[in-house]
Amino acid sequence: MPVVTGPADDPWIARWWPSLRDGEQAEVGAPRDAAWAAAVSRVRGAALAIDYGHLVSSRRFTLTGYRSGRQVAPVFDGSCDITAHVAFDACAEAAGGTGCWCRNGTRWPLGLSGEVTGSGWEWLESARGRADRRAAEPGGAGGVRVAAARPWRRGGRPAAAAAALASDTRQLRRGLTTIVEGMRIHTVPTSAALSDPGREYRASEPGVPLRCCLRKSSPDEPVWLFRYSPAAGKGPYEEVGPVFTHVDCPGGAAPDRLPVELLNNSRVLRSFNAAGQIEDGVLVEPGGFDSAVEGLLNDPVVEAVQVRSLSHGCFLFAITRS
Ligand SMILES: [Zn+2]
Repeated sequence: MPVVTGPADDPWIARWWPSLRDGEQAEVGAPRDAAWAAAVSRVRGAALAIDYGHLVSSRRFTLTGYRSGRQVAPVFDGSCDITAHVAFDACAEAAGGTGCWCRNGTRWPLGLSGEVTGSGWEWLESARGRADRRAAEPGGAGGVRVAAARPWRRGGRPAAAAAALASDTRQLRRGLTTIVEGMRIHTVPTSAALSDPGREYRASEPGVPLRCCLRKSSPDEPVWLFRYSPAAGKGPYEEVGPVFTHVDCPGGAAPDRLPVELLNNSRVLRSFNAAGQIEDGVLVEPGGFDSAVEGLLNDPVVEAVQVRSLSHGCFLFAITRS
């Protein structure tokens, strides 16, 4: 996070930290705004941000470091964690936000109606309910972005709040989880890596899409990166491209269920006939995978469907009839 000392001619500071005086320090929130907006753009329904924060009316320099749970001077040498309060109003606007609440019950800017008061837990429940109702309105899905500030006191109920958020996440995923009747998902076995002498071992590569169990990798999970040729394309349609798998896969991919963790972005679906030739290619947005797969498999000529990333074209998994 960039830190500036006043006077500063940064446009973000001019818009969101107008109170900065000469000689004072400020944290420029533009990269955080962009990151939040990008995260929200991938969400259908509601996005709820919870952190320590401030609004334009109460900006103050909060950059600090933590080491072993103790607050220390922030030093950018990797020796401590570095954190700063979130400029929630800036984040909310960057994501097209409709609401921003403070712990004390004020709202900024207005968007979702009604006052939010009471304990942190009640506050969270209330905010969540409003977001849900708004999302349920016609045309509301995808339009609700909620940024929230200072949700609970120290000693509040973060565990319960975390459980509520986990439930929300499951709800969001349920919207994406899709079962297409008669569909079978095909993954890439980790043993496929061994047939590529050029395979690369990575001790930790968090966030990459794993083709063995169809989820994103966690930190410190050893993975293979290797060349792989999916089965469906044959002859001139045979393609080789890079894929990741676990080195030791704990399993978990359901053969009859679309893997939601790999379907929260736009994807390209390519259908192949029995001769291994491409029949069709369609661009599918999150939420539309079940009907798209169903549509392709309803064509009797289609034998298999490949799901690929839109940006890189990389193969993710294959689908056939069961
Ligand atoms: Zn795996």
